[in-house]
Amino acid sequence: MVKLTQQEVQGMMNFSEGICIECGEPTCGPVEPDAEGYECGCCGENEVCGIDQAILLGYVDITGDGDGTEAAAEAAKGLLNNLDKHWRKP
Ligand SMILES: [Zn+2]
Repeated sequence: MVKLTQQEVQGMMNFSEGICIECGEPTCGPVEPDAEGYECGCCGENEVCGIDQAILLGYVDITGDGDGTEAAAEAAKGLLNNLDKHWRKP
């Protein structure tokens, strides 16, 4: 489980970055949003997922930017709604 703030997640989505769910390192370049099992340049494990994929699979714990779990929960809900729209093809 990787902990990211909503802001970090948003930034990663903007740049289509992936994240290693083993060591938590973001990729330094873009990957497909649904990427899975890519090699991590940091720890060498094949555990890099696209950020969307990582969230969908429940590997990312989205926290608020400050404190307050309510804000974090709202933020996570908003992101998941966006993902849902993104993944539901017309
Ligand atoms: Zn890694």
